Amino acid sequence: MSGRADTIAAVATAPGAGGVGVLRVSGDRAGEIARAVLGRAPRARHAHYAAFRAADGGVIDRGILLWFPAPHSYTGEDVLELQAHGSPVVLRMLLARLVELGARHARAGEFSERAFLHGRIDLAQAEAVADLIASGSEAAARAAQRSLEGEFSTRVHALAERVVRLRVWIEAAIDFPEEEIDFLKAPELAAEVDATRGDLHALLGETRRGVRLADGLHVVIVGRPNVGKSSLLNALAASERAIVTDVAGTTRDVLRETIDLDGIALTLVDTAGLRDAADVVEREGIRRARGELERADLAVLVSDDGDAARDLDLLRTIPSRAVRVVVHNKIDLAGTRAHREERDGIVHLWLSARSREGLDGLVAELRRHAGAGESDAGAFTARARHVAALERARAHFDAAVAALAERNAGELAAEDLRRAHDALGEITGEVSADDLLGEIFSSFCIGK
Ligand code: GDP
Ligand code: ZN
Repeated sequence: MSGRADTIAAVATAPGAGGVGVLRVSGDRAGEIARAVLGRAPRARHAHYAAFRAADGGVIDRGILLWFPAPHSYTGEDVLELQAHGSPVVLRMLLARLVELGARHARAGEFSERAFLHGRIDLAQAEAVADLIASGSEAAARAAQRSLEGEFSTRVHALAERVVRLRVWIEAAIDFPEEEIDFLKAPELAAEVDATRGDLHALLGETRRGVRLADGLHVVIVGRPNVGKSSLLNALAASERAIVTDVAGTTRDVLRETIDLDGIALTLVDTAGLRDAADVVEREGIRRARGELERADLAVLVSDDGDAARDLDLLRTIPSRAVRVVVHNKIDLAGTRAHREERDGIVHLWLSARSREGLDGLVAELRRHAGAGESDAGAFTARARHVAALERARAHFDAAVAALAERNAGELAAEDLRRAHDALGEITGEVSADDLLGEIFSSFCIGK
């Protein structure tokens, strides 16, 4: 572990001004730095109210200093935390002071990476830290907390242990060749194989649900220009459950607006931007729009002519299986009342983005697709890479079962079970490649 000697520092609170801003330092020099800032040795886990001093003795700010000697800290290293006034300027000056005293700027996710490398948390728990910070709904936050507490990891470990027990059984059989066939045909073994398979399938299902919980529902709003997509998005954004984020883009950028409605990410796409185009800028826009549709869990088609048949035809040319909701907008002009109909598995909603009549029907529809109302009791958050690892584990497990059942090939089965076990180990990080770690932690925010 090369990083142990060097000491990292970062502002841990979100950018911008706030009442309080927190800086974090981790590594061997954190103790020295704490003494230099405080002017004396800090007491462990004690809140010192102190002046944070510059090299010339001048006071940069006054605040709380906390000292967590290793190993009882988030990273497992010596950790220093400064709680200062949440001014970006003050925090920048304090960070510069920490660097002057021998720390270096932390990379994104480096504190959590160190926590993982020192065995404070496993990889799935480290990912849950990021999921918790990014959670877009209360259900997602509760589920991320469960993963952080280790509930998901515990399930993975329990499954891994079952796989190991099977492997031990089979390897024991191989070691006693005269009894091998009997061993491999024992009803207890068959029962254990079935139970393990059941666990694997159950965990895979819950993990898939965990990914949906963590990611939220990705909804794309499509339609011709001027049907009222932006108006609809704005009307939804005015709901108190929406977090409005500015997404920078040029006028030709089709993905210029996104909001987060209670964990549901909504993105606009103009179908005008999906037609074939000669020019480069427009082609790039089309590429992104198509990408957006391919990733969507749900596409909402907006129409304003009362009969969406033409728009639905247009959508059939788009590579998306996701259209499930058609919004017939501007009922205030048409003099229609807000209502809902279901035809050929597609939900049609009549509403007005301008008067907001019928808007709650759309919100309910979105929440239904997001699985809201579905109980999140016991749910944990997970990631696509966890699902991929479990699918690999399942494939190796099934191969092992086939080797046993069809050929009594104990050695092959044992080898497949070893691979299934490795795939499970990748989830918690017991088996991991450096580039995977880099990829995971680089997606964190700085200071975490
Ligand atoms: P977009 O191009 O699909 O994003 O459409 P906009 O949201 O920019 O709306 C196009 C025009 O339709 C604007 O003048 C809106 O004010 C108007 N509009 C949008 N929704 C409604 C509605 O429900 N009723 C009425 N009367 N006008 C609407
Ligand atoms: Zn628009």
